[in-house]
Amino acid sequence: MTSTRQFKSRDGYIYVYNPIQAYPQSYIKRATITLEQKIGRRLQPHEVPHHINHVRDDDTPENLEALSKSEHSRLHMKEMLAKRYLKQEPVSTRETQKYL
Ligand SMILES: [Zn+2]
Repeated sequence: MTSTRQFKSRDGYIYVYNPIQAYPQSYIKRATITLEQKIGRRLQPHEVPHHINHVRDDDTPENLEALSKSEHSRLHMKEMLAKRYLKQEPVSTRETQKYL
């Protein structure tokens, strides 16, 4: 491995210490860097890296895709509601209408 300083955030993402000068933050999601290399451009401010297999520390290029923040939260919400439906947990109409 590299000597790059990195850590896992409480919500499970890997962050690496400012490996690219262009980023103003001192730590940046490793997924962002990998995805930007994969698609050959910087992510737009409204885009986020999505982990296709839902493993948040699996930052392999095949597991990452760029989604807009609204697409991304809609996707996660749909999946969360589907899981709750399968577990027969109640979902309010307000929640469903908001995201489906
Ligand atoms: Zn995601």
